[in-house]
Amino acid sequence: MNIPYGRQHITDEDIQIVTQALKADYLTTGPTVGVFEEKFAAYVGAKYAVAISNGTAALHLCALALDVNENSKVITTPITFAASANCVRYCGGQVAFADIDPETVTIDIDAVGRMLESAPKGTYQGIIPVDFAGYPVDLEKLKQLADEYNLWIIEDACHAPGGYFTDSKGVKNNCGNGAYADLAIFSFHPVKHIACGEGGMIATNDKALYDRLMILRTHGITKRPDLLKENHGGWYYDMVELGYNYRLTDFQSALGISQLSRAEQGIDRRRAIAKKYDQAFEGTNIKTIKPPVGIGHAYHLYVIAVENRKAVYDALRQEGIYAQIHYIPVHTLSYYRENGYADVSCPNAEKYYESCISIPMYHSLTDEEQDYVIEKVKAIVGKHQLV
Ligand SMILES: *Cc1c(COP(=O)(O)O)cnc(C)c1O
Repeated sequence: MNIPYGRQHITDEDIQIVTQALKADYLTTGPTVGVFEEKFAAYVGAKYAVAISNGTAALHLCALALDVNENSKVITTPITFAASANCVRYCGGQVAFADIDPETVTIDIDAVGRMLESAPKGTYQGIIPVDFAGYPVDLEKLKQLADEYNLWIIEDACHAPGGYFTDSKGVKNNCGNGAYADLAIFSFHPVKHIACGEGGMIATNDKALYDRLMILRTHGITKRPDLLKENHGGWYYDMVELGYNYRLTDFQSALGISQLSRAEQGIDRRRAIAKKYDQAFEGTNIKTIKPPVGIGHAYHLYVIAVENRKAVYDALRQEGIYAQIHYIPVHTLSYYRENGYADVSCPNAEKYYESCISIPMYHSLTDEEQDYVIEKVKAIVGKHQLV
């Protein structure tokens, strides 16, 4: 047995579709990118989507499009992949870490409220919440705060395509639908729900942000007639601001489209796996997170909390189960410690980190493999229980 915590799901159909794309005229950005964007926007329920070379680049472009600069201070959670915070640093801004809510492991919105209340108005420009492990952050509540203090929101929804929460009007909001956030980003890294090798997407309902992102994605270069100050002929383009090459290719988009067509199947499978884990660990001292009614968990990860975590991690590896830890609190990583964040204290995040462990969760995990994981996890956790 050799079972990772997550892995891609590639079918023969995916391979055929990519092969076709490789035989077509465009290798980099061609018509398939636009098709992927349209289908993805429809899937999450947003008006616009911009395909990007990876999720980190998507975060960077979002920060640029919202004018993050040396004077900016942006709030995020320490329990996330470093990229959620790094995008602010790319633009020279400061990161402010708000602690997590231990019940959901998403950003503690009351803690955000206290940060905003205790600082002079205008101290913070935006918030980057994360739908951690696929648990949708309460964006409705967060947006009320954001509006009060005139902040924008970038939803890092890398873990949550297919997740949703129900708002106070009883409306089901898909993660990334843009109803309560300015921008949302996704990643198509192989461990995520939809795999493109590398890839990312930004979803938004804001036409102005969409237009700017399209230009930033391609060097800041545009051929849009309304943006050209001069026009020397058919070849003419202008560079209107400093952008990057953050394009996705047509063959990656082809893979993305094929994967997206199975997204609901993938979510159903992940929810079934979660349900079986939930039931198996009930009544044990393995702590799990069960979302309340109205929350659609997307289960990118299945995180449990255990005592003696290192021993459990090591023993699982001995049995061929490659669990992972999500995440080391970002503010404790050397770069942050050595660049002004040494005094940051997020006790809930630090405590969470001591016991969390992500066990296998992915579309192609078989029932037999899951039975094996359950048996080993229960036995090993039992053996290493502190008495
Ligand atoms: C994966 C991930 C990213 C970065 O995505 P890449 O495509 O790997 O660059 C950002 N934020 C979170 C929460 C992620 O899980």
